Amino acid sequence: MLYVVGTPIGNLDDISVRALKTLENVDIIACEDTRNTQKLLNYFQIKNKKLISFHEHNEEKISQKIIELIEENKNVALVSDAGMPCISDPGYILVNKCISKKIKVITIPGPNAALTALVSSGIESYTYTFYGFLPRKKKDLKVKLNEILLSKHTSIIYESPHRIINLIENICEISNHRIISVSRELTKFFEEVVTDTSEKILEKFKRGNLKVKGEFVVIISPNKEETHEEIDNFKLIEEVKKMVDNGSKSSTAIKIVADKYGINKREVYNLYHEEII
Ligand code: SAM
Repeated sequence: MLYVVGTPIGNLDDISVRALKTLENVDIIACEDTRNTQKLLNYFQIKNKKLISFHEHNEEKISQKIIELIEENKNVALVSDAGMPCISDPGYILVNKCISKKIKVITIPGPNAALTALVSSGIESYTYTFYGFLPRKKKDLKVKLNEILLSKHTSIIYESPHRIINLIENICEISNHRIISVSRELTKFFEEVVTDTSEKILEKFKRGNLKVKGEFVVIISPNKEETHEEIDNFKLIEEVKKMVDNGSKSSTAIKIVADKYGINKREVYNLYHEEII
């Protein structure tokens, strides 16, 4: 049997009793960084566990090995360095292979940075899209952010301290007044959650009122701009043009704007091309 076990995202006391019992009882633990998982096991005095290294670069190969072990009647737990395996972390390939081999998979739910940040943000939480890490290339990042900032749903993004300011600057270039939330070091001693306009959040970073240190989740509130009935053709074209100026392909921009207002793509295409000819 495979157990997919959620582990803490900072505060070790967040581990569940069921997760501890599972880690205690399995034969083998597959984990990203064996030193990291060993520390967790030491903290909870779980002794003599066989650990195998399972990360994004060997996931395919080691999944096969894990399946062989399970077929030899071993119980295996999969953990990641923090939070839920499979969420911006390796795991789904193994789960998928187990399912296709009719191997039973049991998930032991645990902490997750995305949902913890969403709940702390105070931003609408009924419908949301989880994006994980956004592309690193400037142009791809802009295209993705254009899409996110047009979305009528809340968006969740993971970011590292090295790129957090760049991310907020890029958000501000598209929309200065959007309400966003930045969560830093969740569940840890220096936890901070700040919800404000993108402009004010950037200011806080630049003034040092928000530290550029630790791990970050950014929540972006839904786009509340007018819908199709209220919007005129000029505004539609302006939105497409703005996205194209920011690096999107015109076809992508047309699709995003058409989806946003529930209009036929061809209609937006015609309006846009009549305007630019
Ligand atoms: N599997 C994890 C989960 O369930 O949340 C996510 C792993 S992903 C490789 C690591 C990213 O999650 C970090 O770069 C950061 O964006 C976010 N993260 C993880 N722990 C966090 C924390 N304590 N506070 C804020 N963000 C965190």
